[in-house]
Amino acid sequence: MNFHILTLFPEMIMNGLSTSITGRAMDKGIISVNAVNIRGFSQDKHGHVDDYPYGGGAGMVMQAAPVYRAYEHVMENVGASDSGKSPRVVYMTPQGKVFDQKMAQELSKEEDLIFLCGHYEGIDERVLEMIVTDNVSIGDYVLTGGELPAMVVIDAVSRLVPGVLGSDISAEFESFHDDLLEYPQYTRPEEFMGMKVPEVLLSGHHKNIEAWRLKKSIERTKERRPDLWEKSIHNESK
Ligand code: SAH
Repeated sequence: MNFHILTLFPEMIMNGLSTSITGRAMDKGIISVNAVNIRGFSQDKHGHVDDYPYGGGAGMVMQAAPVYRAYEHVMENVGASDSGKSPRVVYMTPQGKVFDQKMAQELSKEEDLIFLCGHYEGIDERVLEMIVTDNVSIGDYVLTGGELPAMVVIDAVSRLVPGVLGSDISAEFESFHDDLLEYPQYTRPEEFMGMKVPEVLLSGHHKNIEAWRLKKSIERTKERRPDLWEKSIHNESK
């Protein structure tokens, strides 16, 4: 799967994603991350990519032309016409649909995804109207730029791509699967500061372990995320 990111800070994206699991997936060629510097597409001799907002107000707005040219550059590389299908262009914005595991699953089915990261006060609306297919937010708060949000989405999507995690099973029984949070996990030693690992996990009795884990998942979801629990009951009764 190929991620293309239009950004003013490509090194932030590359540094962030080339570590740990996503980094290993990049090395193995299971995912590719291509951060494109919008500033490289400025036609201004000083490399400016932003200007004052029409109508006044605080801050600066990213101009339409450099963003559009950076987008065209990526589209040429993707070879959109080969499959006849244009890749989705995801604008990271606090005004978007709030990202969740379901959206991560949906996006993981794409072959190419283009992310657009804003900065300052945002981006000239006209280029957004022209190229953006999905507006996505990572939560109801405002950040300084779309780079961290794009990394959040790319990380969550990547780990659903077959081969990125050690075993495909590990992504299947996690939090949000069936709208339940995951059960508590334990590893060696059996006793830590007088606290023992629950007996059932040492029993080797798979049916009992499964039942215990489900019970804990339910307890935990009811307690920590009553909203998710409501959703879970609703889904089951369908
Ligand atoms: N003035 C804008 C916010 C600009 S924040 C408004 O009020 O809507 C600058 C950039 O950071 C945005 O263009 C967006 O790309 C990114 N950003 C900020 N908060 C975000 C969030 N919660 N989710 C996704 N992207 C966000």
